[in-house]
Amino acid sequence: MALKDAAYDVDNAITREGRRGMSYENAFGGILSFMRRNYSKDLVDVDIAITGIPFDQAVTNRPGSRFGPRAIREASTLQPCDPPYGWDINPLEDFDIVDYGDLAFDYANVAAFPAQLTDHIRGILKHECGALSFGGDHYVTFPILRAFAEKFGPVALVHFDAHSDTWPDDDMNRIDHGTMFYKAVKEGLIIPEKSVQIGIRTQNDYDAGVHVIDAPLVHRQTPDETAIQIKNIVGDHPVYLTFDIDCLDPAFAPGTGTPVWGGLSSAQAAAILRNIRGINMVGGDVVEVSPQYDTSGATAVAGAHAAMELVCLYCWNLRAKNA
Ligand code: MN
Ligand code: MN
Repeated sequence: MALKDAAYDVDNAITREGRRGMSYENAFGGILSFMRRNYSKDLVDVDIAITGIPFDQAVTNRPGSRFGPRAIREASTLQPCDPPYGWDINPLEDFDIVDYGDLAFDYANVAAFPAQLTDHIRGILKHECGALSFGGDHYVTFPILRAFAEKFGPVALVHFDAHSDTWPDDDMNRIDHGTMFYKAVKEGLIIPEKSVQIGIRTQNDYDAGVHVIDAPLVHRQTPDETAIQIKNIVGDHPVYLTFDIDCLDPAFAPGTGTPVWGGLSSAQAAAILRNIRGINMVGGDVVEVSPQYDTSGATAVAGAHAAMELVCLYCWNLRAKNA
């Protein structure tokens, strides 16, 4: 079936009739969209809109994650011919998922960027549609959270990262990818006692009241134990899940701006993500993929896999809500 279909399936990003179904087009060709979904600005009756945020002007070290959305889309073309492994749902067949394209913004007017991004996400959420974003550097999560908090109230944050990103910064106008969760707590966008960071391995004396499952603890216990701790912390509160690719060890994800040794393996991250199924996930992102430092392409592959796990978590929750 798949081999035969590959002979005539092409450019599903623009040729697909309807939004659902697997894609058998050649992984190495065709117009790129995330998982070969339709490009569409029409979000009526859409379950999830995928959107890229190619912004990397808030980094402390190496820039380049503005190319992350393209790299994740390209790496995702290895996956849309099979259902996701380890799940008993198939989001590509059973849910309406579109690629909404990228945010447009004036790269030379950085100060205007946060409000533009909040507007962009607000425009998706008004359609009763989920939003899954690809960064870009991690700062993008802050304007995104403003739109989510407007709709859902303060959310529980599940945050995978080598860094806490809660370094104190009382200038709310500074655009910095290391301080936005300090600001998100201060602004009331997230509930610290229902939020948790996983994979932390850089020193910051201020935790903003957020739970921390640091990288050494993840390594000492099983992924199942980590997943249970996460689920106990968030309960049934609406969850926003942010996946900074540098939560993974540089051996698994070298293509990122601020790599730190001692991180999670991709196997640990995959098991934890699958085992937190059942959380009340309302949105999420994958950030900090920088293809120019990604000599093997492994980082983009990990980013595309993490993104698909986020799709599965969202659809799992949607199915439960609709049951
Ligand atoms: Mn981060
Ligand atoms: Mn980080």
